[in-house]
Amino acid sequence: MPNVPSIADTEAGTSCNCMETYWTARRYAKSGFIENRFIEECPFCRNIAPETIEHILLECSRWQALRADILAQYINIYRAQVAKNHHYCQLQSQ
Ligand SMILES: [Zn+2]
Repeated sequence: MPNVPSIADTEAGTSCNCMETYWTARRYAKSGFIENRFIEECPFCRNIAPETIEHILLECSRWQALRADILAQYINIYRAQVAKNHHYCQLQSQ
């Protein structure tokens, strides 16, 4: 049975409290809960890329469809806001 570290013993626990709600595969692997290879390998896309928060949000092919869907919503909100502001500017200059 592996020695179970406390949150305070982990790298994120000592430096930042904001990321304690999600443990990446890399973090589990470093703590000895899962196989060592997941320190450098993403378990979802199976690429040789550590599953970091950046990888999940920006790179991982497994989450591409979800990412595109969510980003499309924000892009549409942004476009609507820009169009609205542009319309307001035109009214001001008349
Ligand atoms: Zn991945």
